[in-house]
Amino acid sequence: VTAQQQYGTVVETFRLSPTMVRVVFGGDGLAGFEPTEFTDQYVNALFVPEGAPYGVPFDVDEARSLDPAHRPRGRRYTIRSFDADRGLVTIDFVAHGDVGYAGRWAQHARPGDRLQMIGPSGAYRPDPDADWYLFGGDESAIPAIAASIEVLPEGARGVVRVVVDSPAHEFEIPAVDGLDVVWLHRSAAERPDDLLVDAIAALAWPAGRPDVFVHGEAAEVRAVRRHLIAERGIDREAASISPYWRRGHTDEAWREVKSQWLADQSADV
Ligand SMILES: Cc1cc2nc3c(=O)[nH]c(=O)nc-3n(C[C@H](O)[C@H](O)[C@H](O)COP(=O)(O)OP(=O)(O)OC[C@H]3O[C@@H](n4cnc5c(N)ncnc54)[C@H](O)[C@@H]3O)c2cc1C
Repeated sequence: VTAQQQYGTVVETFRLSPTMVRVVFGGDGLAGFEPTEFTDQYVNALFVPEGAPYGVPFDVDEARSLDPAHRPRGRRYTIRSFDADRGLVTIDFVAHGDVGYAGRWAQHARPGDRLQMIGPSGAYRPDPDADWYLFGGDESAIPAIAASIEVLPEGARGVVRVVVDSPAHEFEIPAVDGLDVVWLHRSAAERPDDLLVDAIAALAWPAGRPDVFVHGEAAEVRAVRRHLIAERGIDREAASISPYWRRGHTDEAWREVKSQWLADQSADV
């Protein structure tokens, strides 16, 4: 199977918060975009390093055979939404400073700019038969959490715990009556890395079988996973829990250590 390849042309960009940039992509390069049924569906977006002798669209195999400094840098990004009628793909990027490729690209993106992407693929969609839903994560997981909330069955109940820098950094989570949503603020925390696990550990645990979706920074996610399996007895096979990025690691550095990290994590509990 050849992975789907396409490129989006930036139609518009918005600031959702001081550190979140929404980019809406359209154009002919997305004509072949085929969404999956998964609400955490993501693409591998390919960022072209400065000075590389090619532009979007490019031949991926060829570009990957160039001098390492010029090879495209792959970064995974959730499809926040897909508008099939208008052929628009929306991605929300964390603008985490003047480092790396993807976040920096998004901060400078202007209409007409292009981004090549492979995919989408995904793995999670809310289980309509769950008794309740637990969503947790940081900014990088909010696009997938928001897309998941949009397809919850009528009358769904659940808990959302998400970490952002401060009240001014809160952005968009679709409003659903049965959802208890709490934004956690790093600026107000002595130990920001513990915010997510502490908030989840403090929950009055609803009865019944939860559908669990927790993603974000690797160490934060790992602490939550340990808690949920060891203390709450959740079904580890059914839960969707994974690290999206690692503080202090570029995505390349993270991918190098990720399989060992995941092995260590499964040895936790
Ligand atoms: C399946 C999947 C879906 C994802 N969906 C999204 C999404 O929808 N939106 C999104 O913004 N991210 C998403 N991510 C995370 C994103 O791929 C990573 O954050 C990626 O490392 C960003 O690349 P970069 O080039 O900007 O920074 P890199 O070059 O990878 O890293 C540069 C520096 O920035 C730090 N850094 C990276 N990400 C963050 C962050 N979020 N906050 C603070 N510091 C950071 C790194 O630790 C490193 O020190 C997803 C990841 C996966 C695996």
